[in-house]
Amino acid sequence: MTNRISFQLNASDGKARTGVIATPRGEIRTPAFMPVGTAATVKAMMPESVRATGADILLGNTYHLMLRPTAERIDRLGGLHRFMNWDRPILTDSGGFQVMSLAGLRKLTEKGVTFKSHIDGSKHELTPERSMEIQRLLGSDIVMCFDECPALPADRDRIAESMRLSMRWAQRSREAFGDRPGHALFGIQQGGLEQDLRQESAEALREIGFDGYAVGGLAVGEGQEAMFSCLEYAPDMLPADKPRYLMGVGKPDDIVGAVARGIDMMDCVLPSRSGRTGQVFTRFGVVNIKNARHADDPRPLDEACTCPACSQYSRAYLHHVFRANEMISGMLLTWHNLHYFQEIMADMRNAIAAGSFEAWQAGFHDQRVQGDIDPL
Ligand SMILES: [Zn+2]
Repeated sequence: MTNRISFQLNASDGKARTGVIATPRGEIRTPAFMPVGTAATVKAMMPESVRATGADILLGNTYHLMLRPTAERIDRLGGLHRFMNWDRPILTDSGGFQVMSLAGLRKLTEKGVTFKSHIDGSKHELTPERSMEIQRLLGSDIVMCFDECPALPADRDRIAESMRLSMRWAQRSREAFGDRPGHALFGIQQGGLEQDLRQESAEALREIGFDGYAVGGLAVGEGQEAMFSCLEYAPDMLPADKPRYLMGVGKPDDIVGAVARGIDMMDCVLPSRSGRTGQVFTRFGVVNIKNARHADDPRPLDEACTCPACSQYSRAYLHHVFRANEMISGMLLTWHNLHYFQEIMADMRNAIAAGSFEAWQAGFHDQRVQGDIDPL
């Protein structure tokens, strides 16, 4: 066990990389997918089940936890790991993104953001210093800088102004974080889809110096083509010897495309949220379990999948419990989706290590275009 956080690259294939982030709470194999545990739980999953899918690290949301049950209460109860019964690494976001997307009556100044809680209307303030304090109280292993996320579409001047504010906040986050062995602080590159602004942001972050670097401000509705074209250059601007994290991504083909462009870490609510709405991700694309075609189908979702939903239940059962609004529906489908996402990550790590990532990608896309198995 290490008492510092370190990143070791083991192999690369094209721009894709595989390695290990070593932390005092365990290793994170990269490329890594982080399930989202918004309110100190990955919805519908026990923590040991999340681990069984292959997850090395979870993401927690500062915005949600600061409002309820509050960071101070979690700290008094022994920190987030103990509170939610997950003893492996946790990355927390800074709260910036969700203040912009969820909170009411925001006021943005150089100092930070004041806003009203979407839960009870109470007034709160988030600044770089307060975000670092909250993430320290939670006991987060990987802490994210506090940044500002402009709603898109936005014009170039607005994106430039916002990025420069985020870089000043990155400096303040670095100073407020201080020196905390065993904990990492990641900077967040901004600049929208403007290559020169991404470059300016990357240089500002490198000047400050971080333990890892995120590509922020993507996956906000710009579409896959625009995101991939930005990822052609944005990760290359960040230090090659540090982890690169693409925030809020994504669908299986987004994840594979991001890894192919040099991304090491990702997070998304998609597998867990979709599990609760009957949308299932498989090797053969998306399956909607609510569709009547599954009502009499005794076959598994995916006969090659080893998750409990596939190895122990039929499509007919999964269809029935979804239609009947039974809780086990969200549990099983979330488990399957998280399992599938982690399988993709494991496959990619193996393919990159073997130097066969391009061939693996071709197979991945071939299976997806085949579509789901024919109805009975
Ligand atoms: Zn499965």
